[in-house]
Amino acid sequence: MNQTSASQPITAHPKPTTTANAAMIHLEHVHKVYDLGEVQVHALRGVTMEVHPGEFVAIMGASGSGKSTLMNIIGCLDRPTRGRYMLEGHDVSEFSKIELARVRNRKIGFVFQQFNLLARTTALENVELPTIYAGLSLEEREQLAIDALRRVGLEDRRQHFPSQLSGGEQQRVAIARALVNRPAILLADEPTGNLDSRTSVELMEIFQRLNDEQNLTLVLVTHEPDIARYAKRNVIFRDGRIQRDTVVANRAYAREVLPTLPVIGEEEEEEM
Ligand code: ADP
Ligand code: MG
Repeated sequence: MNQTSASQPITAHPKPTTTANAAMIHLEHVHKVYDLGEVQVHALRGVTMEVHPGEFVAIMGASGSGKSTLMNIIGCLDRPTRGRYMLEGHDVSEFSKIELARVRNRKIGFVFQQFNLLARTTALENVELPTIYAGLSLEEREQLAIDALRRVGLEDRRQHFPSQLSGGEQQRVAIARALVNRPAILLADEPTGNLDSRTSVELMEIFQRLNDEQNLTLVLVTHEPDIARYAKRNVIFRDGRIQRDTVVANRAYAREVLPTLPVIGEEEEEEM
């Protein structure tokens, strides 16, 4: 296999030192059929894949190929119609809705394209919200939220309302909210979909730092190849199946790319 090619099969990836059972996410022949009465939509058609701790996976594929369906299953928002899903060794495919909600709250952080922040609520309060189930004191909850805001570089914006923050900052608040319960895995479905290209790379810088420095496991959906190359691994979906699963050979590093990108505002001044 040519090492200089843009990507190579995942089998060329160094074998994890731990056993296969140590996979954080283990999907086995997962199918998802949406039953709409008259029609059935077969959104996932036998997906088998693993994600190990510390991985950074970008899920790609055309619209309708099943990416969000996969994320909802991985994130315990939905259950497979057939097949098995093991999360950290626990079979969650048979869990009740209440059990799924408990796992979701403890293990999983979610970030969406729409930031989904509460408008009349400060950044700090938005980030505090998911800690309400953890049985902590107000002081402990606030401290967790401040720590999470610090992880995304926004501790000095804690009293701002969403309307007083840029799109990129709002998404960082949403990431802090996803991180506040110290999840094992962060799932992001098109997190840069509403952001300009520089702000998108700034977001990738945060994801790469969380992945590198804190070993946070990341699974991110994007339809932009430019964004996917910041991940370590790309999985491409087509018609509900995995079409390709590759290691990113020429990985991009946001820290290196950012200084080469124009800052918003400068560009416009030059044109005047
Ligand atoms: P992607 O995120 O790759 O665009 P989705 O997972 O959202 O794809 O959708 C895969 C397929 O499943 C599509 O045909 C879509 O219309 C269908 N689908 C997704 N969610 C639902 C749902 N809640 N009910 C019915 N069909 C759905
Ligand atoms: Mg989608």
